[in-house]
Amino acid sequence: MSTTSTQPRDCSEISADPTVDDLRRWDREVYWHAFTQMSEYVPLLIDRAEGCTLIDVEGREYLDGVSSLWCNVHGHRHPRIDAAIREQLDRVAHCTSLGASCTTTVRLAKRIVDIAPACLQHVFFSDSGATAVEVALKMAIQYWQQCPDPQPQKTKFVALDEAYHGDTLGAVSVGGIDRFHQIFRPLLFDVLRVEAPRADRLPSGITSDEACQHYLQGVERVLAEHGDTVAALILEPLVQGAAGILVHPPGYLAGVRELTRKYGVLLIADEVAVGIGRTGRMFACEHEAVTPDILCLAKGITGGYLPLAATLATGELYRAFLGEHAELKTFFHGHTYGGNPLAAAAAIATLDVFVEEQTLQAMTPKVARMEQRLARLAQHPHVTRVRQRGLMAGVELTQDRSADQPYPWQQQRGMRVCRHALSRGVWLRPLGDVIVVMPPLAIELPQLDQIMDAIEDAINVECGQE
Ligand SMILES: *Cc1c(COP(=O)(O)O)cnc(C)c1O
Repeated sequence: MSTTSTQPRDCSEISADPTVDDLRRWDREVYWHAFTQMSEYVPLLIDRAEGCTLIDVEGREYLDGVSSLWCNVHGHRHPRIDAAIREQLDRVAHCTSLGASCTTTVRLAKRIVDIAPACLQHVFFSDSGATAVEVALKMAIQYWQQCPDPQPQKTKFVALDEAYHGDTLGAVSVGGIDRFHQIFRPLLFDVLRVEAPRADRLPSGITSDEACQHYLQGVERVLAEHGDTVAALILEPLVQGAAGILVHPPGYLAGVRELTRKYGVLLIADEVAVGIGRTGRMFACEHEAVTPDILCLAKGITGGYLPLAATLATGELYRAFLGEHAELKTFFHGHTYGGNPLAAAAAIATLDVFVEEQTLQAMTPKVARMEQRLARLAQHPHVTRVRQRGLMAGVELTQDRSADQPYPWQQQRGMRVCRHALSRGVWLRPLGDVIVVMPPLAIELPQLDQIMDAIEDAINVECGQE
Protein backbone atom coordinates (compact mmCIF):
# COMPACT_ATOMS: atom_id res chain seq x y z
CA MET A 1 0.00 0.00 0.00
CA SER A 2 1.03 3.65 -0.01
CA THR A 3 2.94 3.35 3.27
CA THR A 4 5.26 0.71 1.90
CA SER A 5 5.76 2.42 -1.43
CA THR A 6 7.65 5.25 0.27
CA GLN A 7 10.17 2.83 1.75
CA PRO A 8 13.38 2.12 -0.11
CA ARG A 9 13.03 -0.95 -2.25
CA ASP A 10 14.88 -4.10 -1.48
CA CYS A 11 16.68 -4.77 -4.73
CA SER A 12 18.95 -7.45 -3.35
CA GLU A 13 17.11 -10.11 -5.30
CA ILE A 14 17.55 -8.46 -8.63
CA SER A 15 20.46 -10.14 -10.25
CA ALA A 16 21.42 -10.33 -13.87
CA ASP A 17 21.66 -14.08 -13.71
CA PRO A 18 18.94 -15.63 -11.55
CA THR A 19 19.25 -19.32 -10.71
CA VAL A 20 16.59 -21.82 -11.73
CA ASP A 21 15.47 -21.88 -8.10
CA ASP A 22 15.07 -18.09 -8.11
CA LEU A 23 12.95 -18.32 -11.24
CA ARG A 24 10.83 -21.09 -9.81
CA ARG A 25 10.22 -19.09 -6.64
CA TRP A 26 9.41 -15.87 -8.51
CA ASP A 27 7.12 -17.87 -10.77
CA ARG A 28 5.10 -18.88 -7.73
CA GLU A 29 5.35 -15.67 -5.72
CA VAL A 30 5.37 -12.86 -8.26
CA TYR A 31 3.83 -14.10 -11.47
CA TRP A 32 0.02 -14.42 -11.09
CA HIS A 33 -1.01 -17.02 -13.68
CA ALA A 34 -4.25 -17.14 -15.68
CA PHE A 35 -6.94 -19.62 -14.58
CA THR A 36 -4.54 -21.03 -11.98
CA GLN A 37 -4.94 -21.58 -8.24
CA MET A 38 -1.62 -20.06 -7.26
CA SER A 39 -1.50 -21.73 -3.85
CA GLU A 40 -1.32 -25.11 -5.59
CA TYR A 41 0.70 -24.08 -8.60
CA VAL A 42 3.64 -26.30 -9.44
CA PRO A 43 5.94 -24.34 -11.77
CA LEU A 44 6.56 -25.76 -15.20
CA LEU A 45 9.33 -23.56 -16.52
CA ILE A 46 9.70 -23.77 -20.26
CA ASP A 47 12.98 -22.51 -21.59
CA ARG A 48 12.68 -23.28 -25.30
CA ALA A 49 10.91 -25.44 -27.84
CA GLU A 50 11.50 -27.37 -31.03
CA GLY A 51 8.70 -28.45 -33.34
CA CYS A 52 5.97 -29.98 -31.19
CA THR A 53 8.24 -30.35 -28.17
CA LEU A 54 8.57 -27.96 -25.23
CA ILE A 55 11.83 -28.08 -23.26
CA ASP A 56 12.03 -27.00 -19.63
CA VAL A 57 14.87 -25.32 -17.74
CA GLU A 58 16.29 -28.70 -16.80
CA GLY A 59 16.25 -29.92 -20.39
CA ARG A 60 13.23 -32.21 -19.92
CA GLU A 61 11.09 -32.55 -23.04
CA TYR A 62 7.31 -32.48 -23.25
CA LEU A 63 5.12 -32.97 -26.28
CA ASP A 64 2.79 -29.98 -26.62
CA GLY A 65 -0.50 -31.87 -26.44
CA VAL A 66 -2.66 -28.74 -26.36
CA SER A 67 -0.83 -26.56 -28.92
CA SER A 68 0.12 -24.17 -26.11
CA LEU A 69 -3.61 -23.75 -25.54
CA TRP A 70 -5.15 -23.87 -29.02
CA CYS A 71 -2.56 -21.63 -30.60
CA ASN A 72 0.30 -23.50 -32.12
CA VAL A 73 -0.30 -24.82 -35.62
CA HIS A 74 2.91 -25.65 -37.48
CA GLY A 75 5.09 -26.41 -34.46
CA HIS A 76 7.30 -24.11 -32.42
CA ARG A 77 10.24 -22.28 -33.98
CA HIS A 78 9.11 -22.96 -37.49
CA PRO A 79 11.94 -21.59 -39.68
CA ARG A 80 9.51 -19.93 -42.10
CA ILE A 81 7.61 -18.05 -39.39
CA ASP A 82 10.76 -17.22 -37.43
CA ALA A 83 12.26 -15.69 -40.58
CA ALA A 84 9.11 -13.69 -41.38
CA ILE A 85 9.16 -12.05 -37.95
CA ARG A 86 12.89 -11.30 -38.17
CA GLU A 87 12.41 -9.74 -41.58
CA GLN A 88 9.56 -7.58 -40.34
CA LEU A 89 11.69 -6.55 -37.36
CA ASP A 90 14.18 -5.04 -39.79
CA ARG A 91 11.44 -2.81 -41.19
CA VAL A 92 9.05 -1.74 -38.44
CA ALA A 93 7.78 -3.43 -35.26
CA HIS A 94 4.65 -1.40 -34.69
CA CYS A 95 2.49 1.09 -36.48
CA THR A 96 -0.96 2.22 -35.38
CA SER A 97 -4.12 1.19 -37.20
CA LEU A 98 -5.91 4.39 -36.17
CA GLY A 99 -6.00 6.33 -39.40
CA ALA A 100 -2.74 4.77 -40.63
CA SER A 101 -1.53 1.45 -41.90
CA CYS A 102 1.41 -0.84 -42.47
CA THR A 103 2.13 -2.73 -45.69
CA THR A 104 2.36 -6.10 -43.94
CA THR A 105 -0.98 -5.72 -42.17
CA VAL A 106 -2.69 -4.65 -45.41
CA ARG A 107 -1.33 -7.76 -47.12
CA LEU A 108 -2.66 -9.91 -44.28
CA ALA A 109 -6.11 -8.33 -44.49
CA LYS A 110 -6.30 -9.16 -48.19
CA ARG A 111 -4.97 -12.69 -47.60
CA ILE A 112 -7.65 -13.39 -44.98
CA VAL A 113 -10.48 -12.03 -47.11
CA ASP A 114 -9.28 -14.11 -50.08
CA ILE A 115 -9.60 -17.39 -48.15
CA ALA A 116 -12.57 -16.55 -45.89
CA PRO A 117 -16.13 -17.67 -46.63
CA ALA A 118 -17.52 -15.55 -49.47
CA CYS A 119 -19.07 -12.16 -48.57
CA LEU A 120 -16.75 -11.64 -45.58
CA GLN A 121 -14.87 -8.78 -47.21
CA HIS A 122 -13.62 -6.58 -44.39
CA VAL A 123 -11.25 -7.25 -41.51
CA PHE A 124 -11.02 -5.40 -38.20
CA PHE A 125 -7.84 -6.29 -36.29
CA SER A 126 -7.42 -6.53 -32.54
CA ASP A 127 -5.19 -8.59 -30.29
CA SER A 128 -7.05 -11.45 -28.60
CA GLY A 129 -10.04 -13.71 -29.00
CA ALA A 130 -11.96 -11.79 -26.37
CA THR A 131 -11.43 -8.48 -28.15
CA ALA A 132 -12.41 -10.05 -31.48
CA VAL A 133 -15.70 -11.00 -29.79
CA GLU A 134 -16.21 -7.57 -28.18
CA VAL A 135 -15.69 -6.01 -31.58
CA ALA A 136 -18.26 -8.38 -33.10
CA LEU A 137 -20.87 -7.62 -30.42
CA LYS A 138 -20.44 -3.86 -30.74
CA MET A 139 -20.48 -4.01 -34.55
CA ALA A 140 -23.77 -5.90 -34.40
CA ILE A 141 -25.39 -3.37 -32.08
CA GLN A 142 -24.20 -0.37 -34.04
CA TYR A 143 -25.20 -1.97 -37.36
CA TRP A 144 -28.86 -2.07 -36.38
CA GLN A 145 -28.75 1.61 -35.37
CA GLN A 146 -27.53 2.79 -38.74
CA CYS A 147 -28.36 0.19 -41.39
CA PRO A 148 -30.59 1.35 -44.28
CA ASP A 149 -33.74 0.32 -42.36
CA PRO A 150 -32.65 1.06 -38.77
CA GLN A 151 -34.01 -1.07 -35.95
CA PRO A 152 -32.50 0.44 -32.83
CA GLN A 153 -34.59 -1.84 -30.60
CA LYS A 154 -32.43 -4.77 -31.70
CA THR A 155 -29.98 -4.81 -28.78
CA LYS A 156 -30.15 -8.35 -27.37
CA PHE A 157 -27.97 -11.36 -28.01
CA VAL A 158 -28.75 -15.05 -28.19
CA ALA A 159 -25.98 -17.36 -26.98
CA LEU A 160 -25.57 -21.03 -26.19
CA ASP A 161 -25.43 -22.73 -22.82
CA GLU A 162 -21.84 -23.70 -21.97
CA ALA A 163 -20.52 -21.15 -24.46
CA TYR A 164 -17.07 -19.65 -24.05
CA HIS A 165 -16.13 -16.46 -25.84
CA GLY A 166 -13.32 -15.00 -23.72
CA ASP A 167 -12.90 -13.19 -20.42
CA THR A 168 -13.69 -9.52 -20.99
CA LEU A 169 -17.11 -8.41 -19.78
CA GLY A 170 -19.02 -8.51 -23.07
CA ALA A 171 -17.50 -11.87 -23.90
CA VAL A 172 -18.31 -13.16 -20.42
CA SER A 173 -21.90 -11.93 -20.79
CA VAL A 174 -22.43 -14.13 -23.83
CA GLY A 175 -20.41 -16.91 -22.18
CA GLY A 176 -22.31 -19.65 -20.42
CA ILE A 177 -19.88 -21.55 -18.22
CA ASP A 178 -21.19 -20.83 -14.74
CA ARG A 179 -18.06 -22.01 -12.96
CA PHE A 180 -16.07 -19.22 -14.63
CA HIS A 181 -18.79 -16.64 -15.14
CA GLN A 182 -21.30 -16.68 -12.29
CA ILE A 183 -19.26 -14.56 -9.90
CA PHE A 184 -19.21 -11.64 -12.36
CA ARG A 185 -22.97 -11.72 -12.94
CA PRO A 186 -23.60 -8.22 -11.48
CA LEU A 187 -21.43 -6.73 -14.22
CA LEU A 188 -22.96 -8.59 -17.14
CA PHE A 189 -25.78 -7.87 -19.55
CA ASP A 190 -28.66 -10.32 -19.95
CA VAL A 191 -28.56 -12.78 -22.79
CA LEU A 192 -31.20 -15.09 -24.26
CA ARG A 193 -30.02 -18.67 -23.90
CA VAL A 194 -30.50 -21.72 -26.04
CA GLU A 195 -29.58 -25.27 -25.18
CA ALA A 196 -26.03 -26.39 -26.00
CA PRO A 197 -26.59 -28.73 -28.97
CA ARG A 198 -24.66 -31.72 -27.69
CA ALA A 199 -24.46 -34.67 -30.04
CA ASP A 200 -23.42 -37.10 -27.31
CA ARG A 201 -25.73 -36.57 -24.32
CA LEU A 202 -29.21 -36.09 -25.72
CA PRO A 203 -32.29 -34.93 -23.83
CA SER A 204 -34.44 -37.90 -22.83
CA GLY A 205 -36.71 -39.20 -25.56
CA ILE A 206 -34.60 -37.67 -28.35
CA THR A 207 -32.76 -39.98 -30.74
CA SER A 208 -29.58 -38.94 -32.49
CA ASP A 209 -31.51 -38.62 -35.76
CA GLU A 210 -33.85 -36.12 -34.11
CA ALA A 211 -31.16 -34.24 -32.17
CA CYS A 212 -30.40 -31.53 -34.71
CA GLN A 213 -34.07 -30.77 -35.30
CA HIS A 214 -34.74 -30.71 -31.57
CA TYR A 215 -32.01 -28.18 -30.87
CA LEU A 216 -33.00 -26.05 -33.86
CA GLN A 217 -36.58 -25.93 -32.62
CA GLY A 218 -35.23 -24.48 -29.39
CA VAL A 219 -33.43 -21.77 -31.37
CA GLU A 220 -36.55 -21.06 -33.41
CA ARG A 221 -38.71 -20.68 -30.29
CA VAL A 222 -36.40 -17.97 -28.95
CA LEU A 223 -36.07 -16.17 -32.29
CA ALA A 224 -39.80 -16.33 -33.02
CA GLU A 225 -40.57 -14.74 -29.66
CA HIS A 226 -37.70 -12.25 -29.36
CA GLY A 227 -36.30 -11.85 -32.90
CA ASP A 228 -37.52 -8.23 -33.13
CA THR A 229 -35.22 -7.20 -30.30
CA VAL A 230 -32.29 -9.50 -31.05
CA ALA A 231 -29.19 -8.02 -32.71
CA ALA A 232 -27.27 -11.26 -33.18
CA LEU A 233 -26.86 -14.89 -32.28
CA ILE A 234 -23.30 -15.85 -31.35
CA LEU A 235 -21.91 -19.38 -31.37
CA GLU A 236 -18.77 -21.43 -31.66
CA PRO A 237 -19.37 -23.32 -34.92
CA LEU A 238 -19.30 -27.16 -34.79
CA VAL A 239 -17.48 -27.52 -31.47
CA GLN A 240 -17.70 -25.75 -28.11
CA GLY A 241 -14.07 -26.01 -27.08
CA ALA A 242 -13.92 -24.75 -23.51
CA ALA A 243 -17.11 -26.64 -22.63
CA GLY A 244 -15.05 -29.81 -23.02
CA ILE A 245 -14.91 -30.32 -26.82
CA LEU A 246 -18.66 -30.48 -27.05
CA VAL A 247 -19.47 -31.54 -30.61
CA HIS A 248 -22.66 -30.30 -32.30
CA PRO A 249 -24.86 -32.56 -34.44
CA PRO A 250 -24.22 -32.16 -38.19
CA GLY A 251 -26.57 -29.65 -39.78
CA TYR A 252 -26.98 -27.51 -36.68
CA LEU A 253 -24.80 -24.66 -37.92
CA ALA A 254 -26.51 -24.53 -41.33
CA GLY A 255 -29.89 -24.69 -39.57
CA VAL A 256 -29.00 -21.78 -37.30
CA ARG A 257 -27.87 -19.78 -40.32
CA GLU A 258 -31.24 -20.35 -41.96
CA LEU A 259 -33.17 -19.39 -38.82
CA THR A 260 -31.16 -16.22 -38.21
CA ARG A 261 -31.91 -15.15 -41.80
CA LYS A 262 -35.59 -15.98 -41.41
CA TYR A 263 -35.89 -13.85 -38.26
CA GLY A 264 -33.58 -11.01 -39.34
CA VAL A 265 -30.85 -11.66 -36.79
CA LEU A 266 -27.10 -11.42 -37.47
CA LEU A 267 -24.98 -14.54 -37.03
CA ILE A 268 -21.61 -14.20 -35.29
CA ALA A 269 -19.31 -17.22 -35.70
CA ASP A 270 -16.63 -17.32 -33.02
CA GLU A 271 -13.92 -19.35 -34.76
CA VAL A 272 -11.24 -18.34 -32.28
CA ALA A 273 -10.69 -21.99 -31.31
CA VAL A 274 -12.01 -23.95 -34.30
CA GLY A 275 -10.68 -21.70 -37.09
CA ILE A 276 -7.31 -21.92 -38.87
CA GLY A 277 -7.43 -25.59 -39.75
CA ARG A 278 -8.33 -27.24 -36.44
CA THR A 279 -11.41 -29.01 -37.85
CA GLY A 280 -9.69 -30.09 -41.06
CA ARG A 281 -10.87 -27.06 -43.05
CA MET A 282 -9.44 -23.58 -42.73
CA PHE A 283 -12.73 -22.33 -41.28
CA ALA A 284 -15.24 -24.51 -39.42
CA CYS A 285 -18.12 -22.74 -41.21
CA GLU A 286 -16.93 -24.26 -44.50
CA HIS A 287 -18.09 -27.72 -43.38
CA GLU A 288 -21.70 -26.59 -43.68
CA ALA A 289 -21.19 -23.99 -46.43
CA VAL A 290 -22.19 -21.22 -44.03
CA THR A 291 -21.23 -17.56 -44.31
CA PRO A 292 -21.86 -15.77 -41.03
CA ASP A 293 -22.34 -11.99 -40.94
CA ILE A 294 -19.37 -11.66 -38.60
CA LEU A 295 -16.54 -14.12 -37.98
CA CYS A 296 -13.95 -13.97 -35.17
CA LEU A 297 -10.41 -15.35 -35.44
CA ALA A 298 -7.48 -15.37 -33.02
CA LYS A 299 -5.43 -18.13 -31.33
CA GLY A 300 -3.97 -20.06 -34.32
CA ILE A 301 -3.93 -17.15 -36.72
CA THR A 302 -0.26 -16.32 -36.04
CA GLY A 303 0.67 -19.98 -35.72
CA GLY A 304 0.80 -19.47 -31.97
CA TYR A 305 3.54 -16.83 -32.16
CA LEU A 306 2.10 -13.42 -31.34
CA PRO A 307 -1.20 -11.91 -30.19
CA LEU A 308 -3.42 -11.02 -33.13
CA ALA A 309 -7.14 -11.28 -33.73
CA ALA A 310 -9.43 -10.49 -36.62
CA THR A 311 -13.14 -9.75 -36.79
CA LEU A 312 -14.41 -10.26 -40.33
CA ALA A 313 -17.58 -8.60 -41.59
CA THR A 314 -19.72 -8.70 -44.72
CA GLY A 315 -19.92 -5.81 -47.18
CA GLU A 316 -23.49 -5.17 -46.12
CA LEU A 317 -22.50 -4.76 -42.50
CA TYR A 318 -19.47 -2.62 -43.35
CA ARG A 319 -21.45 -0.24 -45.57
CA ALA A 320 -23.75 0.66 -42.69
CA PHE A 321 -20.73 2.31 -41.03
CA LEU A 322 -19.93 4.58 -43.99
CA GLY A 323 -21.06 8.20 -44.11
CA GLU A 324 -20.02 11.81 -43.56
CA HIS A 325 -18.01 12.39 -40.41
CA ALA A 326 -20.90 14.39 -38.91
CA GLU A 327 -23.27 11.43 -39.25
CA LEU A 328 -21.24 9.72 -36.51
CA LYS A 329 -21.42 6.34 -38.19
CA THR A 330 -17.75 5.64 -37.48
CA PHE A 331 -17.00 2.47 -35.54
CA PHE A 332 -15.63 4.10 -32.41
CA HIS A 333 -13.61 1.16 -31.20
CA GLY A 334 -9.95 0.20 -31.29
CA HIS A 335 -7.10 -1.65 -29.60
CA THR A 336 -3.70 0.00 -29.58
CA TYR A 337 -1.79 -3.02 -30.86
CA GLY A 338 -4.50 -4.20 -33.25
CA GLY A 339 -2.97 -5.38 -36.53
CA ASN A 340 0.57 -5.20 -35.18
CA PRO A 341 2.97 -5.76 -38.12
CA LEU A 342 5.17 -8.36 -36.38
CA ALA A 343 2.06 -10.40 -35.60
CA ALA A 344 0.76 -9.81 -39.13
CA ALA A 345 4.04 -11.09 -40.57
CA ALA A 346 3.71 -14.23 -38.44
CA ALA A 347 0.13 -14.67 -39.64
CA ILE A 348 1.02 -14.35 -43.33
CA ALA A 349 3.82 -16.88 -42.88
CA THR A 350 1.42 -19.19 -41.04
CA LEU A 351 -0.99 -19.08 -43.98
CA ASP A 352 1.91 -19.60 -46.41
CA VAL A 353 2.99 -22.73 -44.54
CA PHE A 354 -0.55 -24.15 -44.88
CA VAL A 355 -0.01 -24.04 -48.64
CA GLU A 356 3.65 -25.10 -48.71
CA GLU A 357 3.26 -28.04 -46.34
CA GLN A 358 -0.26 -28.99 -47.44
CA THR A 359 -1.16 -28.92 -43.76
CA LEU A 360 -4.87 -29.61 -44.18
CA GLN A 361 -4.32 -32.56 -46.51
CA ALA A 362 -1.66 -33.98 -44.19
CA MET A 363 -4.13 -33.95 -41.30
CA THR A 364 -6.28 -36.79 -42.68
CA PRO A 365 -4.19 -39.73 -41.38
CA LYS A 366 -3.65 -37.93 -38.07
CA VAL A 367 -7.35 -37.38 -37.55
CA ALA A 368 -7.95 -41.06 -38.39
CA ARG A 369 -5.25 -42.22 -35.96
CA MET A 370 -6.72 -40.08 -33.22
CA GLU A 371 -10.12 -41.59 -33.94
CA GLN A 372 -8.72 -45.13 -33.60
CA ARG A 373 -6.98 -44.35 -30.36
CA LEU A 374 -10.07 -42.66 -28.95
CA ALA A 375 -12.25 -45.64 -29.88
CA ARG A 376 -9.97 -47.75 -27.70
CA LEU A 377 -10.07 -45.25 -24.84
CA ALA A 378 -13.85 -45.14 -25.10
CA GLN A 379 -13.89 -48.74 -23.80
CA HIS A 380 -12.01 -47.79 -20.65
CA PRO A 381 -14.01 -48.36 -17.44
CA HIS A 382 -13.25 -44.80 -16.29
CA VAL A 383 -14.08 -43.05 -19.56
CA THR A 384 -17.69 -42.19 -20.24
CA ARG A 385 -17.50 -40.19 -23.47
CA VAL A 386 -14.95 -39.38 -26.12
CA ARG A 387 -15.62 -36.53 -28.52
CA GLN A 388 -13.62 -35.51 -31.55
CA ARG A 389 -13.75 -33.18 -34.49
CA GLY A 390 -10.68 -32.81 -36.68
CA LEU A 391 -7.55 -32.65 -34.57
CA MET A 392 -9.20 -31.86 -31.28
CA ALA A 393 -10.70 -34.28 -28.82
CA GLY A 394 -12.06 -34.56 -25.32
CA VAL A 395 -11.92 -37.67 -23.13
CA GLU A 396 -14.44 -37.46 -20.32
CA LEU A 397 -13.60 -39.32 -17.11
CA THR A 398 -16.17 -41.10 -14.99
CA GLN A 399 -16.20 -42.63 -11.57
CA ASP A 400 -18.77 -45.22 -12.61
CA ARG A 401 -19.26 -45.83 -16.28
CA SER A 402 -22.50 -47.81 -16.12
CA ALA A 403 -24.19 -45.07 -14.08
CA ASP A 404 -22.47 -42.25 -16.06
CA GLN A 405 -21.44 -40.93 -12.66
CA PRO A 406 -18.86 -38.11 -12.61
CA TYR A 407 -16.08 -37.91 -10.06
CA PRO A 408 -16.64 -35.34 -7.31
CA TRP A 409 -15.10 -32.25 -8.95
CA GLN A 410 -13.08 -31.48 -5.83
CA GLN A 411 -10.94 -34.57 -6.53
CA GLN A 412 -9.48 -32.87 -9.63
CA ARG A 413 -9.12 -36.17 -11.49
CA GLY A 414 -8.57 -34.40 -14.79
CA MET A 415 -5.70 -32.40 -13.32
CA ARG A 416 -4.21 -35.54 -11.77
CA VAL A 417 -4.33 -37.41 -15.06
CA CYS A 418 -2.61 -34.49 -16.78
CA ARG A 419 0.08 -34.30 -14.09
CA HIS A 420 0.78 -37.96 -14.63
CA ALA A 421 0.98 -37.46 -18.40
CA LEU A 422 3.51 -34.70 -17.73
CA SER A 423 5.72 -37.21 -15.95
CA ARG A 424 5.50 -39.27 -19.16
CA GLY A 425 6.66 -36.31 -21.26
CA VAL A 426 3.31 -35.04 -22.47
CA TRP A 427 1.93 -31.60 -21.63
CA LEU A 428 -1.86 -31.47 -21.36
CA ARG A 429 -4.35 -29.26 -19.58
CA PRO A 430 -7.76 -30.58 -18.59
CA LEU A 431 -11.15 -28.87 -18.68
CA GLY A 432 -12.56 -30.15 -15.41
CA ASP A 433 -12.64 -33.93 -15.83
CA VAL A 434 -12.32 -33.79 -19.59
CA ILE A 435 -8.82 -34.52 -20.87
CA VAL A 436 -8.35 -32.31 -23.89
CA VAL A 437 -6.08 -33.30 -26.78
CA MET A 438 -5.38 -30.77 -29.50
CA PRO A 439 -1.79 -31.07 -30.65
CA PRO A 440 -0.25 -28.78 -33.26
CA LEU A 441 -1.56 -29.69 -36.72
CA ALA A 442 2.09 -30.47 -37.56
CA ILE A 443 2.22 -33.33 -35.03
CA GLU A 444 3.69 -36.56 -36.42
CA LEU A 445 1.98 -39.93 -36.04
CA PRO A 446 4.53 -41.40 -33.57
CA GLN A 447 4.19 -38.25 -31.44
CA LEU A 448 0.42 -38.52 -31.54
CA ASP A 449 0.75 -42.14 -30.40
CA GLN A 450 3.01 -41.03 -27.57
CA ILE A 451 0.37 -38.52 -26.44
CA MET A 452 -2.43 -41.08 -26.57
CA ASP A 453 -0.26 -43.69 -24.78
CA ALA A 454 0.47 -41.20 -22.01
CA ILE A 455 -3.24 -40.43 -21.57
CA GLU A 456 -4.16 -44.11 -21.41
CA ASP A 457 -1.41 -44.81 -18.94
CA ALA A 458 -2.31 -41.78 -16.81
CA ILE A 459 -5.98 -42.79 -16.62
CA ASN A 460 -4.98 -46.31 -15.61
CA VAL A 461 -2.80 -44.96 -12.82
CA GLU A 462 -4.99 -42.10 -11.57
CA CYS A 463 -8.43 -43.69 -12.01
CA GLY A 464 -7.66 -47.42 -12.01
CA GLN A 465 -8.34 -50.01 -14.68
CA GLU A 466 -11.67 -51.25 -13.37
C1 LIG B 1 -10.02 -18.81 -26.24
C2 LIG B 1 -11.29 -18.37 -26.83
C3 LIG B 1 -11.66 -17.01 -26.81
C4 LIG B 1 -10.83 -15.96 -26.11
O1 LIG B 1 -9.58 -15.79 -26.71
P1 LIG B 1 -8.43 -14.99 -25.92
O2 LIG B 1 -7.36 -14.82 -26.94
O3 LIG B 1 -8.03 -15.88 -24.78
O4 LIG B 1 -9.02 -13.73 -25.45
C5 LIG B 1 -12.82 -16.65 -27.43
N1 LIG B 1 -13.61 -17.57 -28.02
C6 LIG B 1 -13.29 -18.87 -28.06
C7 LIG B 1 -14.19 -19.83 -28.76
C8 LIG B 1 -12.12 -19.32 -27.46
O5 LIG B 1 -11.82 -20.62 -27.46
